[in-house]
Amino acid sequence: MQPIRSATVIGSGIMGSQIAAHLAGCGISVLLLDVPTEGKDRSLVANKGRDGLKKVKPSPVYSADAMDLISTGNTADHLAEAGKTDWIIEAIIEQPGPKQELFKKLSAHMGPNTILATNTSGIPLKILGEGLPASVQERFIGTHFFNPPRYLRLVEVIRGPRTSQVTFDRINHVLGAVLNKVAVPALDSPTFIANRIGVHAMVATVKIAKDMGLTVEEVDALTGPVIGRPKTGTFKLVDLVGIDTLGHIINGLKQAFPNEDFSTDASIQGLIDKKLFGRKSGAGFYKKGKGKDDMQVLDLKTGEYRPEAKARFEELKEVSKEESIEKKYRKLFAAEGRGAEAAQRILSTTLAYAATVAPTVTEELSYVDEAMELGFAWEAGPFKIIDAIGPEGFQAACAKYKIEVPAWLFQPAAGDARTYKLEGGNIAIRDLPKSGAAAGRHILKPRGLNLATVRASSKAVIATTDATLWDIGDKILLLEFHSKMNSMGPISLDMIIKSVDKANDGWDGLVIGNQGQNFCAGANIAMVLLDAANGEFENVDAAIRMFQRASMAIKYSGVPVVVSPHNMALGGGCEFVLHSNRPVLSPETYMGLVEVGVGLLPAGGGTKELALRTYQNNKPALALNTLAKVFELIAMGKVSTSAKEAFDMGYLDKRGVIASNESTRLDQAKAEAVAMSRAGYRPPAPALKIEVLGTEALAAFDTGIFMLREAGFASEHDALIAREVGYILAGGKVTAGTMVDENYLLDLEREGFLRLVGTKKSQERIEFMLKKGKPLRN
Ligand code: NAD
Repeated sequence: MQPIRSATVIGSGIMGSQIAAHLAGCGISVLLLDVPTEGKDRSLVANKGRDGLKKVKPSPVYSADAMDLISTGNTADHLAEAGKTDWIIEAIIEQPGPKQELFKKLSAHMGPNTILATNTSGIPLKILGEGLPASVQERFIGTHFFNPPRYLRLVEVIRGPRTSQVTFDRINHVLGAVLNKVAVPALDSPTFIANRIGVHAMVATVKIAKDMGLTVEEVDALTGPVIGRPKTGTFKLVDLVGIDTLGHIINGLKQAFPNEDFSTDASIQGLIDKKLFGRKSGAGFYKKGKGKDDMQVLDLKTGEYRPEAKARFEELKEVSKEESIEKKYRKLFAAEGRGAEAAQRILSTTLAYAATVAPTVTEELSYVDEAMELGFAWEAGPFKIIDAIGPEGFQAACAKYKIEVPAWLFQPAAGDARTYKLEGGNIAIRDLPKSGAAAGRHILKPRGLNLATVRASSKAVIATTDATLWDIGDKILLLEFHSKMNSMGPISLDMIIKSVDKANDGWDGLVIGNQGQNFCAGANIAMVLLDAANGEFENVDAAIRMFQRASMAIKYSGVPVVVSPHNMALGGGCEFVLHSNRPVLSPETYMGLVEVGVGLLPAGGGTKELALRTYQNNKPALALNTLAKVFELIAMGKVSTSAKEAFDMGYLDKRGVIASNESTRLDQAKAEAVAMSRAGYRPPAPALKIEVLGTEALAAFDTGIFMLREAGFASEHDALIAREVGYILAGGKVTAGTMVDENYLLDLEREGFLRLVGTKKSQERIEFMLKKGKPLRN
């Protein structure tokens, strides 16, 4: 297959500029074009689009240097250049005319292998591709990114009437293996999958709210996490997207589907008429009042603003706490009360609509689920939720609320009406009803390693409340954490040590990783505080020793231990990554040694490991420079904003690997373990002779700390912590050139940690973090 190495993005607005940024962040060189302007700089619009990226938050690129891969131009002077790139993505105004005109011009310049893609939100490709030469139509495809393109992993891939298989395969490959996306094939019907169902959900919710007399706050309380959707609920999300934008999409849907009810409430049109578009115009369904905490809300009955009144539904309190999807939705549908009824009605309407449109928008039910989970950040897609409620339960709810559902949904296939079914350790997915046939069969679809399936289909090797060890085949074990926030307490630490022991007893390797929200948020500091406040420092000492034992077990295991973080890998979580001889990171990994934030220092081997690496990898004369960078990382608790940045910052060296896609990260981690084992894995030799810089480094750190204090960047307590960190990195107060070993550095870590945890100010920091969830700078 021909790889895609270069691209052109046309349209440098919200989507085009950020798509260009993400491509560049993933190593693809990009030409960004927009309309030409009169005057000296004919590419002014595209230049502005590119420059604007620096201000976008959160950052649209993995690291700042990626911006160098974006060059700019305009559609009058640079179409020939565009035609030489591998992939052209159109992201201009959402109107068929200008898009068609642009494609016609482009087709005169396109090289024989260039792919032409549109980022349209909803215009069918059969319309956009009309009149293009056949050879271009074969290379014409839809790649519908979601906003923000770096972070939302969904890309709907739409085949036009003549799109070739080669084009489809090349696009799927670049999206999956290079851009960390999930390519979901969608049929060429207006607005495709996610927007059709997502926007219908919003419109239907407003209608039910009116019908039941619900307030804006009540709707948002009912359509957030309680039903598995983001905290923004419905109206806050509409304010965020822009009420005008939503209005355009709804109008498009009305035209495309005249037989469906996309009529909207007068309140939406009222806001559009008054140019109250939501966040971007300062007011929408919500409006900031004069005071700091004063929020005004639109009254749906009167159309006037009034002070916000927080909504709470007692009958749904238990539902929100439930972590298991099955139990959650069953509880929701068993609950009674006004709020419960509204939530059941709102959710059932969307589930029924998804089932109704599924055969016309997708070739596979699971794609609908993936689209809603990855494009709209729903916790579970419609068909997973129907399975969770149970087909009978859902049927009863639809009957109760008089919601129409297609009959095939409840007709069992081989005795089973669920969409997903476990079959011999794999998930079988129910096929869609074809040409009017009653119900599909269940078909096995090979997917990557899925821990939910492993949990449901195999017996744990070792199981505890906070962590579980699994056999994932090919003589590889996998340890997953599942304590609250995956924080490290004695049970998880003990499990690391036990899992390494087990792996060394007849297995080929161990993977430490999971597929939850985060890898690990660090140590359980509540326990540390309790012991310190009670003066039980021997308990703290024992806990740190255990932490260090766990890290050292990972590093010196006889079989490879691949630590595989994703999202947050903080404090202790970061220390385990540092001790793995081949970490495999999700592209989105936010890792850092953040202990200073709670008045402590990394003592689970993290400070030691970074010091050791610096001394081992640099000649003594050059070590000070790198050591100063490490000092800054730890003393300022710096966290990477991507895996790429974790390398650039110096947390990782060349032994680390960035997974090509989060969805297959654990497969890749396992494959690394297998490959290392087959290649005859040997752990590193114990570090017995480390030549440290001692007083020479201490003097340099002291100057740095003095300057930070003078500039007002560090409090007295920050300076105290920084001195402790510096002491370990320097190898203590010894003359430069002194030889020490690894255990000596671990002792320094422990001693420093114990001194800090005994101070009042550090204990205040821990307490503050536990209560408020953010660091105290005292
Ligand atoms: P935008 O208005 O922010 O940007 C459009 C850009 O295209 C502007 O810079 C404009 O100057 C340029 N442009 C307009 N006509 C042009 C032409 N004929 N030739 C060259 N450049 C031209 O719009 P956007 O939100 O980035 O949307 C772009 C496309 O992406 C649309 O098709 C939209 O439906 C789709 N989309 C948008 C979102 C979103 O959330 N905004 C999400 C997915 C898809």
